[in-house]
Amino acid sequence: MLEYDVRQHFVFKDQALRGVLVRLKESYQTIVQQHHYPLVLANLLGEGLLGVTLMASFFKHRGKLTLQFQGEGDLRLLSARCTQDNEIRGLVRASPALVSNQNLLQALHHGYLNLTYEPEQIGQPYQSVIEVTQPSIAKNLEEYFKRSEQLPTCFVLMSDGDVAAGLMLQALPEAQEHEAFYNLAILAETLTPEELKTCDFKTLLRRLFHEYVIELFPTKPINFGCNCSLARMQNAILSMGEDEAFSILAEETYIEVTCEFCARSHLFDAQEVERIFTEAPSDYH
Ligand SMILES: [Zn+2]
Repeated sequence: MLEYDVRQHFVFKDQALRGVLVRLKESYQTIVQQHHYPLVLANLLGEGLLGVTLMASFFKHRGKLTLQFQGEGDLRLLSARCTQDNEIRGLVRASPALVSNQNLLQALHHGYLNLTYEPEQIGQPYQSVIEVTQPSIAKNLEEYFKRSEQLPTCFVLMSDGDVAAGLMLQALPEAQEHEAFYNLAILAETLTPEELKTCDFKTLLRRLFHEYVIELFPTKPINFGCNCSLARMQNAILSMGEDEAFSILAEETYIEVTCEFCARSHLFDAQEVERIFTEAPSDYH
């Protein structure tokens, strides 16, 4: 049985490193279809969603991790988020000129990778920004771990609009030396997109690391999830300002507010808009 929409943690017995596998199908397709993304964007988004889902694997407390690639080129923004409940969402903004064989460096042009962790209660918020210097999402995430956390990490990612699947290997923070990590990373890099897509996790790990003893943990489900709400949409009306809102309503029957992540929308009529501003704190008037 192929595992879909799950995260699989594993450890190597007698080696100071850990690994995670993720394969997304329905959650990934839901996000792609909400935006009707063409294949080139669906592929990029798949890799971004995998990246953030893999990186969020080792949450110690409740929180949200957001990964954003931003640039001035044909690819403007790739945003993906994973919560401690394994809910993912994401979006891409790009010019129609973006083509699939463009590497990430060129596509972004003066790009930055921005990682933000927002704790729910315990822990400090965290933000890290690094320049994009590598040609792929996987390589930039490896670079991030090298620079920011000094943890050797390896990512292998595939996405094809239908399925997105990825593997992450990481040295444990307490590892004394990293020779084992580099040996295993070389093996991991031989993984083909086809294997990641079509092999069940046990078979895949056995084929790849047959000389090592691996312990698998129970899988965890991953789902699409967006935390937008009517209250957030009302805030969007508020931040528009009263004059702007009513000038729209002078021409249209409704103001439509759409969540940019899940494409859920709400139509606010004049009565609702009036009430939003009446009930708002006075600095909005
Ligand atoms: Zn939403």
